[in-house]
Amino acid sequence: MSALETPSHPLPFIVLSSPIPHNKSSVRILLVEDESRVAGFVARGLRENAYAVDIAADGEQALYLASVNEYDLVILDCMLPLKDGHAVCRELRGSGFRAPILMLTALDAIDDRVAGLDSGADDYLPKPFDFKELLARLRALQRRPRDVRPAILRVDDLVLNTASHAASRGGKPVSLTAKEYALLEFLVLNQGRVAGRERIAQHVWDDNFDPFSNVIDVYIKRLRAKLDAGPGRRLIHTRRGEGYILSASPEPGDD
Ligand code: CA
Repeated sequence: MSALETPSHPLPFIVLSSPIPHNKSSVRILLVEDESRVAGFVARGLRENAYAVDIAADGEQALYLASVNEYDLVILDCMLPLKDGHAVCRELRGSGFRAPILMLTALDAIDDRVAGLDSGADDYLPKPFDFKELLARLRALQRRPRDVRPAILRVDDLVLNTASHAASRGGKPVSLTAKEYALLEFLVLNQGRVAGRERIAQHVWDDNFDPFSNVIDVYIKRLRAKLDAGPGRRLIHTRRGEGYILSASPEPGDD
């Protein structure tokens, strides 16, 4: 428990006296907070603003509730018993949980915020916070497109971790340079669709890219050597005259 989380600290927010009217759709929030006084206060304020709120008092309970209920938002404290907020966040994202996650972090812990965002959180709010700001951030998260990019991307037995940029195929880690990873992630995000050299250059390279160079083909060759050389299914295919396509199904041009 950090100094900021001791029960003697004054309640770290102000509850608005009048509910905000434009939260018409029903939004169910999972609030993960081990300090019952803080949890009770936040939950009451959220309910006054028309949110449905369930409270989990530790990391294990949070994962259990998220597995049996459908939540639209998660407010996740960092320091929790049994399993901390980062581990909960990673497990949720690893299991395909897509709803926005707002992490509550200690005021000056930059590492906490970075770790929170890297573990799959969409935003963070340092403690102590103003309740008005919490509501504003929740509204902002609700406005984001629901189909957020998942932390873990999978095609066949290829797995990419978009936070750590780690890649593995068939459970074996594949060592990639930053540029190789970026190219592979782009292909995976566009799996089953042809990616032309121009689009690849726009998304993976910068303005200094020379359109007459063969650098993309060189990188594709390197990715193939690292990913498609083993016994598994071939994933990176060439569409002659069009570009490249990442897919677990065979392509006509494959040899
Ligand atoms: Ca806590």
